Amino acid sequence: MITKDDWRYDLGKNLKGREFVFKQYKPLSEENDHDHCGFCTEKFSQLIDGALKEGYQTILEPFTWNGKDYENDEWVCSECFNDFKDLLDLKIKKS
Ligand SMILES: [Zn+2]
Repeated sequence: MITKDDWRYDLGKNLKGREFVFKQYKPLSEENDHDHCGFCTEKFSQLIDGALKEGYQTILEPFTWNGKDYENDEWVCSECFNDFKDLLDLKIKKS
């Protein structure tokens, strides 16, 4: 069973209670070609061989920086999502 002693816990605990959608990986910005799992840091990318191609994305969070609008997202791989969904109350968004 996964506990707070798991090495990934500290990395991903800020995602507690967040809602996710399972989908094909796509970066929010064209300038970005990859993201990392919020827990295990495994790489997501459409372009990089061996990288994850799908996973759990948080509901997008708009924010403004230097007068421009951006959206923020976080990605979690399937393995980490399943490992931590009970401990950290990770939710699947109901459509
Ligand atoms: Zn992971």
